[in-house]
Amino acid sequence: MSLALLSPLIVLTAATCIVLLERRFPYSPGQMFFRAGFWNDLILYSIVQSYLLGVAINYLIVWMDSSTGLSRFHLISDWPLWTQVLFFVVTHDLYIYWFHRLQHRSLRLWRLHEAHHSTTDVDWLSGSRSHALEILINQTVEFAPIVLLGAAPEVALLKGMISAVWGMWIHSNIDVHSGVLQYVINGPEMHRWHHSDVVADGSNNFATKFALWDWLFDTAHLPVGKKPTGYGIREIDFPTNYIRQHLFAFRPLMPDEYQPNP
Ligand SMILES: [Zn+2]
Ligand SMILES: [Zn+2]
Repeated sequence: MSLALLSPLIVLTAATCIVLLERRFPYSPGQMFFRAGFWNDLILYSIVQSYLLGVAINYLIVWMDSSTGLSRFHLISDWPLWTQVLFFVVTHDLYIYWFHRLQHRSLRLWRLHEAHHSTTDVDWLSGSRSHALEILINQTVEFAPIVLLGAAPEVALLKGMISAVWGMWIHSNIDVHSGVLQYVINGPEMHRWHHSDVVADGSNNFATKFALWDWLFDTAHLPVGKKPTGYGIREIDFPTNYIRQHLFAFRPLMPDEYQPNP
């Protein structure tokens, strides 16, 4: 079976396993499967937005390549496939750590990120809720180097698949304790704290795939024996409609406006 068919199957299988584990070992018992915003996040963010942005980002990268001609140098084409995948997973994750941290400190960048924090139930689907402009920036940075450095065609598919599964995993409502692994690999144990509605708790744990960055750069937050009491943004009445959620990012800046981490 080709990787183009296999990768969505792997993502769907992972989603099913995560949903079953959420039912069996819930981190926050009582969270509903069909929670507020479920259909919005599934249909509009996960399917429609992902597809349309995928097409747009592809055009953008093809344009970048035809303007620079960089991919013809095949700078990393002779690396083994697994090395290429590992290289892009690690470097993009380090970029995401710092960009994400900046989004929590810059009011204008926070505007593009608050949609992601607006969900009041955190589960396997919550990670998909991100402003289209935020995704446009992050996925262009994710996939442009893969093409421009002349990586193998499978790398983009594998990287996309890994990101999709890992995104579901870190947001999942699964009560997992990964012990020493949590110093390296990120999971719900730390990322759910990042979605806490208490600003002091949420202004930590910026890592996506590797919790290592948080431990290394002193932003790790993992209180022993405690759990967040709520999720979302208390200070803002965030719209529930997809279009309004997007337009909300462009409302006028107010002098006394809420900032996640001033
Ligand atoms: Zn955040
Ligand atoms: Zn998140």
